[in-house]
Amino acid sequence: MKESPTLGIVVPCYNEEAVIGETISQLSKIMKEMMDEGLVSQASFLMFVNDGSRDRTWELIEENRKSNPLVSGVKLSGNVGHQNALLAGLMTAKELADCVISIDADLQDDVKAIREFVVKYKEEGCEIVYGVRQSRKTDTFFKRTTAQGFYRFMDRMGVKVTYNHADYRLMSKRALHELERFKEVNLFLRGIVPMIGFKTGIVFYDRLDRFAGESKYPLPKMLAFAFEGITSLSVRPIRFVTLMGFGLSLVSLFAVIYAVASKLLGNTVSGWTSLILSVWFLGGVQLLALGLIGEYIGKIYKEVKRRPLYIVDRLLLPESLPQREAD
Ligand code: UDP
Ligand code: MG
Repeated sequence: MKESPTLGIVVPCYNEEAVIGETISQLSKIMKEMMDEGLVSQASFLMFVNDGSRDRTWELIEENRKSNPLVSGVKLSGNVGHQNALLAGLMTAKELADCVISIDADLQDDVKAIREFVVKYKEEGCEIVYGVRQSRKTDTFFKRTTAQGFYRFMDRMGVKVTYNHADYRLMSKRALHELERFKEVNLFLRGIVPMIGFKTGIVFYDRLDRFAGESKYPLPKMLAFAFEGITSLSVRPIRFVTLMGFGLSLVSLFAVIYAVASKLLGNTVSGWTSLILSVWFLGGVQLLALGLIGEYIGKIYKEVKRRPLYIVDRLLLPESLPQREAD
């Protein structure tokens, strides 16, 4: 069994003023309990990443920090999205902690699982522990079915994802250092983390309702996220298009032979309908193929630019450490 590890809990926050206070108090309570029991070290901390919120989220983080030594914060210079904000938090926290847990700000993922995450890390030596939703009772029927469809589709496309696992997980310092070596710009952490390997574990929990505030993932954003996940981790769609093009060429070859033969035999028909249909169909297929190719080229374009994924504006380190401004 390992010594009491230093735990960092990373929370990406975007316009979460309605929940942040409650989140801080619930997480602090659990953290203090774990510290008292000696499950985690006294240097453990909570790290809130403010992803360019337009409300009072950051002010509330700063305010809470004055009275609560567990609270630390990273203020990003603008909104970079959930995945990038999470990465910013993970990369900052890994320098200060032995293991890091990521959790959403809205308390939808049951905080009770945190303790089990740590136990798996400490006693079983798991480097990555996935939080898996046991039930999605609180999710709408629509969200549930689309999510299931998404996991199945990802599977088909050859992307390894853990079913019903979002970004609620524990990662060891070592796993985080390996994560840092994945230089992806099109970030889909759920697809990348399983590639790291090492010993993994699973903790089941019940998904709850959002404590307050609104989901920052309306349907269009959810679809974009799913699309991003597929195209940034799998080349199967493009291979599918190639195969389809190949199959269609074969079919048209037979069609040509058939047409020529009919002509030679003298029984030509006025095949206007089939002609116009095939023109439209092929045009459609070509457009689809072009679009997909464009999609991948766009991704390559983004990757080769190597832009930073986030920019830190201010850093409020845990109380126990000397303060410094981001450079
Ligand atoms: N989030 C973020 N940046 C964004 C959008 C969301 O940091 O641009 C955070 C948000 O504050 C929350 C988490 O990502 O902590 C998940 O968002 P949300 O709960 O709205 O998504 P849902 O659970 O509805 O999928
Ligand atoms: Mg949520």
